[in-house]
Amino acid sequence: MGDVNQDIKDVTIIGGGPTGLFAAFYAGLRGVSCRVVDALPELGGQLMALYPEKYIYDVGGLPKILAKDLAKNMIEQGTQFGPDIVLEAEVQQLVSEEDHIRLVTGRGEFLSRTVIITAGKGALNPRILECPGWDAHAGERGGAVTHVRRPEDFRDKRVLLVGGGDSAVDWALGLQGIARELTLIHRRDQFRAHRASVVQMREDAAAGKLTILTPYEVRNIHGDNDCVTGAVIFENATGEERHLEVDVVVALLGFKPDLGPVGQWGLELQRNSIRVSPLMETNIVGVYAAGDITHHDGKLELIATGYGEAAVAVNNAVHYLNPKARVNPGHSTNLKVFGQDEGEDS
Ligand SMILES: Cc1cc2nc3c(=O)[nH]c(=O)nc-3n(C[C@H](O)[C@H](O)[C@H](O)COP(=O)(O)OP(=O)(O)OC[C@H]3O[C@@H](n4cnc5c(N)ncnc54)[C@H](O)[C@@H]3O)c2cc1C
Repeated sequence: MGDVNQDIKDVTIIGGGPTGLFAAFYAGLRGVSCRVVDALPELGGQLMALYPEKYIYDVGGLPKILAKDLAKNMIEQGTQFGPDIVLEAEVQQLVSEEDHIRLVTGRGEFLSRTVIITAGKGALNPRILECPGWDAHAGERGGAVTHVRRPEDFRDKRVLLVGGGDSAVDWALGLQGIARELTLIHRRDQFRAHRASVVQMREDAAAGKLTILTPYEVRNIHGDNDCVTGAVIFENATGEERHLEVDVVVALLGFKPDLGPVGQWGLELQRNSIRVSPLMETNIVGVYAAGDITHHDGKLELIATGYGEAAVAVNNAVHYLNPKARVNPGHSTNLKVFGQDEGEDS
């Protein structure tokens, strides 16, 4: 058993994507204490992990917004009441005890009176390269990695980026002037990334700032003393191989959705989702769910739906915690918590 954090919260939200962040906002609005736990190193869920540079057009009141900007706004709104934020902590177990629920994570244990599961598609595990040499060199010290956390770690290195989405193209731009040599390979000729970034990247390649090779894939990675020294790549149309001397291979291939530990918590599941009542209750008392992780009749996996479900889940959790508290919070335009002097907050 890990360390137990004794600061028991009224509401703990598992997953800091858009639904979890809106739930954190709502918990603050209702005046209950709150903690958000996420497996990833940053908040924002799929918006930040999968498509930060894509425009979203179907969030009410925002005709067009980049996913990363929506995430930024959601983080500002969701953290305004000061919830405890615990990142890089996948919740592995959820255990109902006498008057609280215990959450077991790799970063210790947390106690909560209620839980709202907003875990989306589950833990978003980065896809790795399925080729010889990856496992032997995986990790920042070895040189086969799935993310760029600090660009400075790549200073003066020969870097091979693999991928064709937003993060591959973003780092093909972002590591210029830092990496000594920069090569991007992708298994298709077309990139699935923000068009302006692709245009910029191709212009930079024409100016000799990086090398783009398509349609290429990695055949193997090799090195000395656990450190990468090179990779063999091949043109997938012809099979023709090339050897590249590189110090780091960065696989930017997106994330693999995996319900992960959520499936082991005794929740009633349907089609890899958690079955919920119209009040967003699960089959476990005190445990609610909202957002992409839920299933109910008429379910739509959309950000807008997640917001509504988060509000329903939090308001019912508040009523469960204090049966005298109304489920309906009233309108934010009237709430004292926002400095309005009409209406009641509880
Ligand atoms: C490419 C793409 C484009 C999209 N475009 C749109 C669009 O235009 N409009 C729209 O409405 N929707 C769009 N969506 C869908 C939208 O992103 C999702 O509906 C939304 O992200 C769901 O939010 P969520 O908070 O429920 O889950 P998520 O965003 O998936 O967040 C869940 C969070 O829970 C965390 N988590 C999971 N398991 C655990 C665990 N055991 N312990 C701790 N943390 C855990 C994850 O790390 C993640 O951060 C798009 C999706 C994709 C992939």
